[in-house]
Amino acid sequence: MNKMLPGVRHRTALLGLLAIALVGIVILAHLRIKDNALRNVERTLDSRNSMTRLYFLDKLGKYDVLPETLASAAAIRATLQEPTPARLQEANLTLAETAASLGADRIWVMDLVGRVVADSKWRSSDAGVGKSLAYRPYFQDAAAGKTGRFVGVSVIGQTLGYFLSRPVVIDRAIRGVVALQVSWPFKDYEALLWDDWKVRERLALVADPNGILLMSGVSSWTYKTIAPANPERMARVRRSRQYGDREFLPLGMKVGTMVAPGMRFVQFDALPEKTYLQKAYDMREIGGRVYLHVDAEDYRSTVNSQTGLAALAAAVLFLGAWFLVERLRLQAKLLKAAIRDPLTGLYTRLYMQEWLHDAVNAHARHQERGFSLLLFDIDRFKSINDTHGHMTGDDVLRGVAQLIGGCVRTEDLAVRFGGEEIAVFVRIAVREEVAILGERIREQVAQSGVMTARGLIQVSVSGGIATHAAGETTAALFERADRKLYEAKRAGRNRVFSEWD
Ligand code: GH3
Ligand code: MG
Ligand code: MG
Repeated sequence: MNKMLPGVRHRTALLGLLAIALVGIVILAHLRIKDNALRNVERTLDSRNSMTRLYFLDKLGKYDVLPETLASAAAIRATLQEPTPARLQEANLTLAETAASLGADRIWVMDLVGRVVADSKWRSSDAGVGKSLAYRPYFQDAAAGKTGRFVGVSVIGQTLGYFLSRPVVIDRAIRGVVALQVSWPFKDYEALLWDDWKVRERLALVADPNGILLMSGVSSWTYKTIAPANPERMARVRRSRQYGDREFLPLGMKVGTMVAPGMRFVQFDALPEKTYLQKAYDMREIGGRVYLHVDAEDYRSTVNSQTGLAALAAAVLFLGAWFLVERLRLQAKLLKAAIRDPLTGLYTRLYMQEWLHDAVNAHARHQERGFSLLLFDIDRFKSINDTHGHMTGDDVLRGVAQLIGGCVRTEDLAVRFGGEEIAVFVRIAVREEVAILGERIREQVAQSGVMTARGLIQVSVSGGIATHAAGETTAALFERADRKLYEAKRAGRNRVFSEWD
């Protein structure tokens, strides 16, 4: 009871540890929040990528088997074997009909050296018949027996489109190439990108394998390069006339830290105020790469507000703990003041009552739990006060209290009962034993005296002893002890009387 809570005694250390733990928890929470926010960003971008992929699969997929089908058309095979005017006419008509019915910009047939033999636009002013397209990668791929896929600008029409080509095989030998160009899915997709950027500030870039932007939400970025271009590769791009005569200026994209695999912070020279989280995806359907973005500010404000909440919760927790510790400390202080006499350090009467209540009850239930009261009063204390002053009187009182307290065990109880009266309760019920203790206390005080600022002062106490009878009230016990004390005073002081003396 007299011991303070250890947590209260070491409250500063406790609160310090709690603060460190809370800071640690907030840091961990911050990392978790960041991780979650990044995963959310990634999920958003992944689903946008899936939509893009589905879009191109849907729009371009239906053209996949077309060159193959045309390669087996009789009119085209006959033209490649022997191009008579009648056969050419028929081939041109077949191509024109097919292109019109499927929404292809143009379908054409080339011979083995890449010269255009038949063209769906044979009637228009930009007819390609006779032109050589041997340098175009889709021709080279198909002439080598593969399927050619290519996104670029048409040499003839100068529009961005998707090129698809297949070889024409006659008697197991490649005799020519059928190619088609489709541009409307790109025009439509570009319109979607512009809209996304203007209305929702969502930025998407589509680049070819060389990092040249084919489409962008920001229309002026088209044909810029995502990274500084490799000169050798760019020379090859120019030679293939993939994008006609266009110049490729760098976009001015600064790449920041990588935050997750494939995801990084980027900034664009043209948008100096903004930072984006970017993830790049390979888009096999068009043979290029799609770069999708989320405003980094959105991500940061999510992280900051959630971390702020966590910090606030920690601060509230800390203040709560502080409040609790302060309260416990105050409680302990009040409790100590209530149970300990400030001058002597002995127990108060308030605490004595509690102790006695328990002791009396215990004795009523168990015969062997008897106890005794030794009541002491300092002899001629008034004269000590008168001779040496009240302060020295206090010192003497304190010294006597210490001497008496030193004579009893921890399970016993020494109480400052009145001004200079001290009551001692001991768990001894054998009268002879209590008498011996009483005598020892008396002797101890009389022999040692008390050291004060005025030097050693000789002092003595008188005492009265009563042993508690089971069922007896404490008032009756006190009365008996007090009577014996009175007798001891009358008998000349510096003596301790028991009831059988
Ligand atoms: P005796 O008991 O031997 O009959 O004589 P006494 O002089 O001790 O008489 P009594 O017990 O009646 O007087 C008690 C005195 O103790 C009265 C009071 O001035 C003094 N006293 C009580 N409490 C304190 C205290 O806290 N400090 C000091 N210095 N004196 C106290
Ligand atoms: Mg007195
Ligand atoms: Mg006295």
